[in-house]
This record gives sequence, structure tokens and C-alpha cells, in this order.
Amino acid sequence: MPTEFDDKLNEIKQKCLNCQKCSLCHSKTNTVFSAGVPNAKIMLIGEAPGYYEDQQGEPFVGKAGKLLDQILGCVGFSRKENIYICNTLKCRPPENRDPLPEEKEACWEYLKAQVDILQPRIILLCGRVAVNSFIDTKLGITKLRGKWYEGPHFSKMMPIFHPSYLLRNDSKEKGSPKWLMWQDIKEVRRVYDQMN
Ligand code: SF4
Repeated sequence: MPTEFDDKLNEIKQKCLNCQKCSLCHSKTNTVFSAGVPNAKIMLIGEAPGYYEDQQGEPFVGKAGKLLDQILGCVGFSRKENIYICNTLKCRPPENRDPLPEEKEACWEYLKAQVDILQPRIILLCGRVAVNSFIDTKLGITKLRGKWYEGPHFSKMMPIFHPSYLLRNDSKEKGSPKWLMWQDIKEVRRVYDQMN
């Protein structure tokens, strides 16, 4: 039986799927609302749908999505069981350009609602666009990643590298982006395991 929680989430999802608040609604194929388990303790927030996400209506598919699933799987996380995934922007910017400030502002309503309804205990900010939606900083992701910040609803928030960046930096040597990502995801698992 649907709970009040399901009703609220469905309501905002339906509103988002019919949204015309910015011009991206005219160029998108699908609105990409979320994937994964709504009542998960962890929410991972990416940037905006790319080509494959737009085609399939699901966040983090294609090569970057596969890499993300592998990284999460290494510590026992999966979008089928214990993680909720969404993006800062729900419609694809043409040619995968950076979201414009007015697009981010228009779409913030949906991301905020997802966070407020689901109230995850851990929020992973995947890449610069997601980080800048929650943390007011000029520092780059390399400086911010791997540290915990205070998030909404007493959550713990950590910036992490975007898997697309890791695909462009293939080294696994100590200190490389992939090695750092491995440290970060192990730390996320450690904190997750301490939560009841
Ligand atoms: S990107 Fe967000 S604000 Fe713009 S049309 Fe899509 S759902 Fe609406």
C-alpha cells in the first residue's frame, strides 16, 4: 500500500515529468528523475543527464554509469538495494554543455523536494555542478572530495569525483583520481556501517 512518503515523491515526480520551467523541456527526449531505492540511506546526486540518460530516462547509464556501479559494488552498494540516484538537472542540456544558472535555479525545486522527502543520511555530491548546489565554495572538486560536510536534515555530505572524470584518468596509482575515489568510497562505507 502506498505510504504518505510514496505519495509525496510521486506527486513531485509527476510535476517534474510535465515540467516546462526552462527551455530544456523542448530539447530533451526524456525527463530523468531518479533511479534506485527511494528509502535508501544514501543519495547520490550527479550533474545532468547525458546522451544515454536522456535516451533511457535513467541517471548514470552508459560508460560512466557502469563505472559508477562498479565502484559502488566494490563496497556492497547497489542501485537495486541501498542507494538512490538523481541529478541536479532533470533534463539534458544540448551537447552536454554545463547547466546555465537559470536552469539550475528552475530545477532546484525538484532536487530540494527529493532531499526533503527522502531525507537521506548520506549525500554524495558527484562532480562540481552537484557540489555547487549545496556548498558555497570556489574550490575545485580535487580539494573538496573525500571530506565530510554538514548536509540538509542533519545528513553527512561528501563531494566525490564524477565517473566521467575517472574515465578520462585511467591510472590506478596511489594518489591518482581512481585511487582517491577508492579511498572515498571505503570511507562512505565505513560511516554507513556505523549508522543504525
Ligand atoms: S531541467 Fe528541470 S526545470 Fe528545466 S524543464 Fe527540465 S525538469 Fe523543468
